[in-house]
Amino acid sequence: MAGIYIHIPFCERKCLYCGFYSVSRRFACSRLGENFAAQYVKALLRELEQRLHEIAEPVLTLYIGGGTPTLMPADMLKQLSDGIRERIGALWQVEEFTLEANPEQADGEAITAWKAAGVNRLSLGVQSFSDPELKVCGRRHSAAEAIAAAQTAIGEIGNVSLDLIFGLPGQSLASWESSLDKLIAIRPAHVSAYALMYDEGTAFTRQLEAGTIKETPDETTEKMYQLLTERLAEEGYEHYEVSNFSLPGLRSRHNSSYWTGVPYIGLGAGAHSYDGTRVRRANPTDLESYVKNFLAEVPNQIYSEEILSDTELREEMIMTRLRTREGLPLALYANMFGAEARSVLEKDAAVWIKRGAVEYSSDRSHLRIAPAGVLLSDAVILSLANF
Ligand code: SF4
Repeated sequence: MAGIYIHIPFCERKCLYCGFYSVSRRFACSRLGENFAAQYVKALLRELEQRLHEIAEPVLTLYIGGGTPTLMPADMLKQLSDGIRERIGALWQVEEFTLEANPEQADGEAITAWKAAGVNRLSLGVQSFSDPELKVCGRRHSAAEAIAAAQTAIGEIGNVSLDLIFGLPGQSLASWESSLDKLIAIRPAHVSAYALMYDEGTAFTRQLEAGTIKETPDETTEKMYQLLTERLAEEGYEHYEVSNFSLPGLRSRHNSSYWTGVPYIGLGAGAHSYDGTRVRRANPTDLESYVKNFLAEVPNQIYSEEILSDTELREEMIMTRLRTREGLPLALYANMFGAEARSVLEKDAAVWIKRGAVEYSSDRSHLRIAPAGVLLSDAVILSLANF
């Protein structure tokens, strides 16, 4: 199987914590004019035409993320998915079509139109159910809007994922617990919850450096994560990846492919691709030159390519597989890197097994983070990858 990821790099304006590549609507308009979204869709389809040879297997998942894909009118979204379908022909076997959306755009009419365009999974960027926290982050929706959008989306589409962030400036454990209560009352199919990262170049990082906000102490962030995992486990969610939880059978198939070495092609400014072996490709993060290139009569290929060495492949495998509940398949590891590498890994892992942070699967085919070691995941992964 394979997946297609489409990056839509526009947002109404930048959220204060966000390190993803996106530009504001105003900036996009100033560079490409009012019809920037229509031009971008055309450019995406031309990029796909140029890279069709990279898609060798049936495409089972399509993920439109960003940025804010729902800034595009729904008919443009349909034009995009129809255009992909036409171009890949019989390889279109999409079973999971995810659209990222912001709650302020997700009203009943929009959700119906997205569904008509083929979307069967909606990922809503809720981030918090506290209005003061949403304001601090620069989000444009209220908690009430997020609840309404989630409920409408569940009624209409069913398979809905909600994103939350913990460790926000000024967020208390009690406020996090209250956000979790609201999340649980909605009962989405899927939850992604990330600890706030201070990425380079974000407004939060500048505020942190200027001393106008404070980082949440590690101890509090750890308690927040613990509360998250306990509460969702009590509610029947499967903790299938460090930051991801789903009701049974409702894992994100597209994102799971990132953690298990499945090939995917990423289209759009700033999108990344992986061929399933050693080749990673990255498009430049420059909307204007992306559009101009692919709308030119003869577009150039613009991605940069990286061929992963054995060491990089090994590190990636440890980093991604150990984040999943299934863990790292030892036979595959030995197959790729040799029996010697496997025995070194198992020797290194023994220290963590003794501490209760790592365990073997019951048939000893996989090494994985033990439930008691989830808070130590980062340290375990770094140490086993020998960083
Ligand atoms: S968090 Fe989402 S909406 Fe906010 S700037 Fe980043 S990509 Fe845009």
